[in-house]
Amino acid sequence: MSLPETDTRLIRKPDLIASDMDGDLVMMSIDRGEYYGISGVGVRIWALLAAPISAAEIAATNLADRRRGGRKKICKFCAENTEFVDYKDSQTLRFFLTDRGKIVPRRISGNCARHQRMLTAAIKRGRMIALLPFTTAT
Ligand SMILES: [Zn+2]
Repeated sequence: MSLPETDTRLIRKPDLIASDMDGDLVMMSIDRGEYYGISGVGVRIWALLAAPISAAEIAATNLADRRRGGRKKICKFCAENTEFVDYKDSQTLRFFLTDRGKIVPRRISGNCARHQRMLTAAIKRGRMIALLPFTTAT
């Protein structure tokens, strides 16, 4: 298997079913009928792959995780100059939910505290009006 080009945008394969078991991920490929188990860095990369991301960005993020206080992560909302996180924008909000429907923590998403607070409030509002899941039935 060859590594993807550094600036190719990557996304989760749609035929993969994943669920987390105590911090480890167990995945199943419907196409090939195979099971995979991943943990540690793999789980972090999987979380990043919730939104399209380039291999270079993933590499940068893992580096930041290794060297504490090294490279700073960018808040997606700051980058887009977002003043309000819209609770009706379920497309965007879904990027910040795990497969289980949990809110992705700031240390993984790279959001700033201010926008993470807004995001959390927006997701909770979205849940109340049934735009977003509280949890996913398995
Ligand atoms: Zn921000």
